[in-house]
Amino acid sequence: MRTERRTPSTQTCRASEVTSAILNLTDPPTTQAMADVACSPSPERADVLPARINPDLNRIMVVRAAEGSFRSWAESLVDLPAGSLFARITGVTVGGPATYSSVQAGRDLHVELHSNLLYINHSCAPTLEFDMERMEVRVAHGRDLRKGDVLTFFYPSTEWTMAQPFECWCGAGEGKCLGRVEGAAKLGSEKLRGHRLNRHIREMLKVSQNRGHLLSHQRP
Ligand SMILES: [Zn+2]
Repeated sequence: MRTERRTPSTQTCRASEVTSAILNLTDPPTTQAMADVACSPSPERADVLPARINPDLNRIMVVRAAEGSFRSWAESLVDLPAGSLFARITGVTVGGPATYSSVQAGRDLHVELHSNLLYINHSCAPTLEFDMERMEVRVAHGRDLRKGDVLTFFYPSTEWTMAQPFECWCGAGEGKCLGRVEGAAKLGSEKLRGHRLNRHIREMLKVSQNRGHLLSHQRP
């Protein structure tokens, strides 16, 4: 008979183990054993909760690729209202300096996503926002997300300097599309206006503006 109790910090949800433990009990199951069963994973019931609660990216997005090219993009499989949670960012690893695939999560912190979130391309009029402080991807404010929408976010909202700047073909239109996408450092606060920026970008902008202000006052 298994009688060990798992503390919350080490508790795992191994359904078969716990179920057999309960079946083998001669006395009534403990509250802890019942709790263990309650948190057991149940793949056949996985879709009872919205995918954004228990993230399964395959249920909320699909990656597409143009034949014969390296171009790939992601499309939404769900309808969600503006500003709502799309997915939590999980399973990241800390990288070194910025790479073409990393996302900046702090002043000196670049993470690799290791998931299909990697295929969310840049747009100057994005459908999503990456909040690297909360590790959340949310639907952009001001517009709902519809099934079939291309999933995009505004790269300078996370990136101060980009490993590989590029010409933008997002189609957001004149006055909206930046043309060349570089990190926030190159754009300045005027071009960044209207976009939700991550805290590290806001802080780095402030430092750079203060530095510019000081330098302008030092000129003869
Ligand atoms: Zn653009």
